[in-house]
Amino acid sequence: MKHVDYIVVGCGLAGIAFCEQLREHSKSFIVFDNESQHSSTVAAGLYNPIILKRFTEVWKAKQQLDLALPKYAQLEELLGVKLDYKLPVYRKFASIEEQNEWFSASDKPSLEPFLSPKLVKNHNVHMNAPFGFGEVLGTGRIDTEALVKNYRAFLKNSNRLIIERFEYPEVNGSNNEINYKNIKANYIIFAEGFGLVKNPYFKNLPLRVAKGELLTIKAPELKLNGIIKSAVFISPLGDDLYSVGATYNWEDQTNAVTSQARNELTSKLKRIINCEFEIVDQRAGIRPTVNDRRPLVGVHPKHKTIFVLNGLGTRGVMLAPYLAKQLYEFIEENTALENEINITRFTSLIWEN
Ligand SMILES: Cc1cc2nc3c(=O)[nH]c(=O)nc-3n(C[C@H](O)[C@H](O)[C@H](O)COP(=O)(O)OP(=O)(O)OC[C@H]3O[C@@H](n4cnc5c(N)ncnc54)[C@H](O)[C@@H]3O)c2cc1C
Repeated sequence: MKHVDYIVVGCGLAGIAFCEQLREHSKSFIVFDNESQHSSTVAAGLYNPIILKRFTEVWKAKQQLDLALPKYAQLEELLGVKLDYKLPVYRKFASIEEQNEWFSASDKPSLEPFLSPKLVKNHNVHMNAPFGFGEVLGTGRIDTEALVKNYRAFLKNSNRLIIERFEYPEVNGSNNEINYKNIKANYIIFAEGFGLVKNPYFKNLPLRVAKGELLTIKAPELKLNGIIKSAVFISPLGDDLYSVGATYNWEDQTNAVTSQARNELTSKLKRIINCEFEIVDQRAGIRPTVNDRRPLVGVHPKHKTIFVLNGLGTRGVMLAPYLAKQLYEFIEENTALENEINITRFTSLIWEN
């Protein structure tokens, strides 16, 4: 029988962020992942404190970034790979009215640190942008695929990763200790992304499918030095490759790529750029989204050793370290979770199990 402090189910952005809390506090743990969900590996990985449709701040953006960026820097050290590509985001304006909305938003004290008040003119002959761009500050891209791949290898090397499906019926335990197959643990953290819908403890939480697809294109003439945001985003990956995305599908629960998404992204892209490009890859994943756009964090109302860390939606890069810290402190230091993230807002649904 192996004894650990924690079992973590799921090795995506949420699970990794929680493991980092455990490592920081010298807790022992074992992670299960069956590679059934791909959100964290296919994500574009952009971090951006501004909602670019409305020019408003993302919920707790500053607190999240202040915590997340140093964590990704630590992970770069630990894994010996580059993860954080600091890149400006250029929001393409569709009209003079939008330019004006941007300038009044950039005057607001809460947005001032993030929105440059200067109009960026378009000098790229391959971009269609007659009204220019607004520049968002403090933005970039985390290479989530490299993070997940290298973190899993790191765990595997220290015998802390088991690549298999976590079997929920095998969980036995009391409010003090959990037995799972040949493992004893003090706590379980469920961080399965959209896989949560199969988890008998939390399946009634209102997690919603939000499938997303992305293209990778090669466009040698484009020569972008920042991320363009318009009807789609275009994010430079180096070597004339760009990630273009993303779609939203609220019904399809598969990870399969579709020709509809490819056509949608291609036609939107052709309205923004006017040079040749070749599609070299297409990927799909399911974002774990919640209707009220807040994460799902907390303890099961009956099983006090069983926790959930989910609902990262479209912004897992910024949210994961912020939520993992709160959950860890909630468990080990008895601090309160923020009401907005706490699953107590859905307690009646959980009891419907
Ligand atoms: C196309 C697309 C683009 C995106 N772009 C961005 C972006 O630019 N910026 C951003 O911040 N976010 C982005 N996201 C969202 C981001 O990917 C998610 O918020 C985040 O990855 C969710 O992480 P997670 O760990 O909760 O879930 P997941 O990544 O789904 O990880 C859950 C893990 O649990 C495992 N699992 C599930 N069930 C079981 C089981 N029973 N047993 C064992 N293992 C199990 C799965 O295999 C998986 O590895 C994007 C998502 C998509 C799909």
